[in-house]
Amino acid sequence: MSLLGPVEVRALAEKLGIRPTKKLGQNFVIDGGTVRRIVRVAEVTRDDVVIEIGPGLGSLTLALLPEVARVVAVEIDPVLAAQLPVTVAEMDPEHADRLSVVHADALKVTPDDLRADRGDHAESADRRGADADDLPALPDLPDLPTALVANLPYNVSVPVLLHLLEILPSLRRGLVMVQSEVADRLAAPPGSRIYGVPSVKAAWYADVRRAGPVGRNVFWPAPNVDSGLVSLVRRDPPETSATREEVFAVVDAAFAQRRKTLRAALASWAGTPAAAEQALVQAGVQPSARGEQLGVADFARIAENRPRHR
Ligand code: SAM
Repeated sequence: MSLLGPVEVRALAEKLGIRPTKKLGQNFVIDGGTVRRIVRVAEVTRDDVVIEIGPGLGSLTLALLPEVARVVAVEIDPVLAAQLPVTVAEMDPEHADRLSVVHADALKVTPDDLRADRGDHAESADRRGADADDLPALPDLPDLPTALVANLPYNVSVPVLLHLLEILPSLRRGLVMVQSEVADRLAAPPGSRIYGVPSVKAAWYADVRRAGPVGRNVFWPAPNVDSGLVSLVRRDPPETSATREEVFAVVDAAFAQRRKTLRAALASWAGTPAAAEQALVQAGVQPSARGEQLGVADFARIAENRPRHR
């Protein structure tokens, strides 16, 4: 397997005139051992269509391609997005046809953007005079990504993760590299000091756990924070008559004032402190509790009991 090491990463960046920016969280992996480890821990197979967010120069992409059916890589930087197919054609021509690059902001990407073979497929439909929207899924491969494997841009890692889990029910599992503190927060159980909005919202979609630390020296440039791997395995959300949006509204309200009791923190959500107390009692939650003590199912029950008079 040909991978990018420190020499190749710097040479490629120089050739492209890329100066890694903090704004886009551009820290490129220069260590083959790290990308191989990510692919191994991700437990992806030849049946998986993997979505990779922020492929950058292609360090992780090159490690993924031999192991999976297809990689759909979403990159916001136009220079990096244009170069990736060229790099892969040079370094791993055998698997180059497994790659689709989508030049887009991962925060705004839609399922239609990710039906990677849609382009060719749509072209052949045009030739047949068919409507692209009526096309059946392509044979043999899942139509949409089944796994997320990414070294996420750190400044938007949580919103990107939640956005993808929301728009892609097809995602069965994920392995992402994020800032170490964010990894802790995503995987935190109720009752811990760092348990908060990302922990509850991620738990709505998946079982989340930390999957190992990553040091700073595997990147160029080296970031000034440590990193960590997070594994996600999709599971059903709690059974509830409330919608996801309604549950998340309670979560946001509860943690907006996390030091207050839920009776106080949910007062404007419910209308009054008394109405909040009533909803909490009906949900079987102590009004004097704080948000950090509750699991996602508790938030769902509170949402179900929101007073309807408003
Ligand atoms: N995967 C590469 C690696 O491991 O070397 C690069 C990872 S680097 C931490 C993050 C990448 O995400 C960069 O290539 C950056 O341009 C890209 N990026 C930043 N914000 C993005 C966004 N909103 N949507 C898609 N890609 C983004």
